[in-house]
Formats: sequence, structure tokens, C-alpha cells
Amino acid sequence: TLDFHPTGRHFLQIPGPSPVPDRILRAMSLPTIDHRGPEFGPLGLKVLDGIRQVFKTRHPVIIYPASGTGAWEAALSNTLSAGDKVLMYETGHFASLWNKMALRLGLVPEFLAPQGTDEHLPGAPGWRHGVRADLIEERLRKDTAHEIKAVCVVHNETSTGVTSDIASVRKAIDAARHPALLLVDSISGLASADFRHDEWGVDVTVSGSQKGLMLPPGISFNAVSPKALEAMKTARLPRSFWAWDEIVEMNKDGYWPYTPNTNLLYGLAESLDMILGEGLDNVFARHQRWGAGVRTAVNAWGLPIQCDDPALYSPVLTGVITPQGVDADAVRRLIHERFDLSLGTGLGKLKGRMFRMGHLGDSNDLTLIAMVAAVEMGLRLSGVKLAGSGVQASMEYFAGHPAGTALRA
Ligand code: PLP
Repeated sequence: TLDFHPTGRHFLQIPGPSPVPDRILRAMSLPTIDHRGPEFGPLGLKVLDGIRQVFKTRHPVIIYPASGTGAWEAALSNTLSAGDKVLMYETGHFASLWNKMALRLGLVPEFLAPQGTDEHLPGAPGWRHGVRADLIEERLRKDTAHEIKAVCVVHNETSTGVTSDIASVRKAIDAARHPALLLVDSISGLASADFRHDEWGVDVTVSGSQKGLMLPPGISFNAVSPKALEAMKTARLPRSFWAWDEIVEMNKDGYWPYTPNTNLLYGLAESLDMILGEGLDNVFARHQRWGAGVRTAVNAWGLPIQCDDPALYSPVLTGVITPQGVDADAVRRLIHERFDLSLGTGLGKLKGRMFRMGHLGDSNDLTLIAMVAAVEMGLRLSGVKLAGSGVQASMEYFAGHPAGTALRA
């Protein structure tokens, strides 16, 4: 039989799926309705309107009954043709997976990776930093024949806890006077970190339900610019389920060409009421404050934060590098067994070298202090020498920075 944790709630502190608010779970428990019936259209129109506000776009947002990976494929297959060159940027594991997908689809990705070594993680240059727009500009300037059809970057690299400056990537493309499309993965950034699809000139933004939107996994998104819709007309990669055209057409009345996941859309409607009701700026400030409170603890322990650039600290998660010889996954396992709390594992090149602390979803100061306490106990039980108490530091941070004051602090 499954163990449903009878004594208190499990602490789901991975950087997505994030803890789902009870309010959303209740909304999702309503009866499933006819997806072609009269009540469905208004629901469809409501979520399509609300999600556009979250992406900050006036243009169509496509909702897929799929995980984020599906929406990645949709972004590529709707805009590109086999053999097209795409410029991708290695910020971490998810950027690497998107690059692998491009290869499998028959595209010709070039994977830009900054050189250099790092004292803590010598094998993963670039995995502690954000996208360098200057390298993108330099590469595009050399592409005088305009063979590169798209630039693909990850906004919030969930494997590292580093955000990237998307506006600077747009500027780099424009400065090089290059016509490439800009495709951005904000699967874990949207609705936690500031994102502006239209203002930043993004052509396709990919996102998912199970992070900042605080929903279970199962729906994902493509926000598409007019230029992307134009590119679709000549893009030749095979697509059917992912094809934007029929979906956009039927969405005009709030319906889909196939069965949408109705109950997740109830959840999305509730999530949008919560997020837009709070106000996006307040939502972003809340996550920044949470991130700052958690990082205070990591600094007090004297452990390195995976993100090496304070200007790019993710408001969604914090990666913590364990000392040489300490298996980060063993620490995670111990914390799970002893304290019923899940942390994110080190992915790809970071396996065993770091763990990730999520600060998103249905959460509050005390949830995060509990997470810090579990990690502190787990590190001590694993024999890691800590410089000081992260719990003490976090308590002081949260007590000294009432909600709503983080940006002024
Ligand atoms: N991209 C990023 C930045 C992610 O964080 C994830 C999942 O964590 C994905 C892509 C893949 O999304 P999914 O697992 O929903 O298919």
C-alpha cells in the first residue's frame, strides 16, 4: 500500500511541481463538464484571457494538455523546418535537454557554452551563470547569410537557480540586425519571476502549469508573437497535435479541437484569480523575498550558492553546492527519510554535487524556515561542518523584513 504520510503534510520543496494551494485543489474537484457544451466556452475564454495577462501579451497563448516538454516541441515544430540552424545557450540541464530535442527533430542546433573553469564545479562552465547576450550578438553578427533561424534560451534555469536577462538577448539580436526568432523557456519562471512576452520581443514563450502557477503537472503553454505565427506558415517540421493554427481558431470561442483537461482548467481559472488578484508585482516581490530569506541561510552555513551572479539569483529556487566528498543526493535521501521533506536533485553535470531548495507554490515564511531547518539538520547529520546556523539567519531575515518591504530593504 502507498504511504500517504499520516502525520502532517509532506514538505514538497522541489522547484516544481510546487505545492498546490487547497483552494486550487478544491476548484479542480468540481464535476467534469462537456468540453463542447455551453458552459465550457466561458471557462475557456476566461483562462485564455487570464493567462495572456500573466505572459504580458496581447497575442495568442496556446494551452496544451501536456507537460512542458511537449510545449518545447510545439515551439520548435511550429516555427522551423528540418535542417534549420538554431542557436541555443548552455545555462544548465534544461537548456541541454532542449538542445537534444532540437537534434532529434532534425534541426541543426549550435550549443553556445562559455569557456572557463570553476573552483567548485570544474566540469560545468556556464552552469553558474546566465546567458551572455554579448556571445549571442557576436555569433549572430558572423551569420551574415542569416542561416540561424531561431535563438533559444532558458529564462529560469531550474537545474541551477540562475535567471537570464531576456531583454538583453532581444537587444543582442536587434543589434546584430538579425531576423532570427527568439524562443524562450520560462517553464519555471512564469508567475514567479517577472516576464514580459511582448515588451521583451519574445516570439515564443514556453511555460508549464506545475511551477509558479501552482497547479499539478499536465498543462503547458506557448505564447506566440505575430512574427511566430507568420513563421508557422512556412515552417515544415511535421506537426499535428501541436499545430497552432486549428487551436488558435477554435480558441476564439473558448473551445479546443480535441479534449482539453477540463479539471486542470478549473484549477488554472482559480490560480489566475489568485495571482492576478494579488497582483503580478506583489507575486514577484513575494518570491524575491522568499529567495532572499533562504539564501541568507545558505550564506550562514558558509556553503556556495550554485548561482554565481547575485544579480541573477532565481526567485524560484536556490541551488546549494555541497563540499567536495559529500554526496548531495545522500544528504537529500537522509532529509527525506528523517524529516519527510523533498529537495530537488542535482541534474546532469551537477549530479551528486548540489541540491535545490524550492521557494515557490503554496508556501509561507514558516514553510521556508522549516525547509531550512530540515536541510540544516540533514547537513549536520551528514557530517558537514557549517559556519553558522541558517535557521537563525532565516528567522532573523523573515522577522526583520515584513512581507511587502523586501524590495525596499
Ligand atoms: N524546462 C525547464 C526550465 C524546466 O524546469 C522543466 C521541468 O522542470 C522542463 C523544461 C521540462 O518540463 P516538463 O518536465 O514539464 O516536461
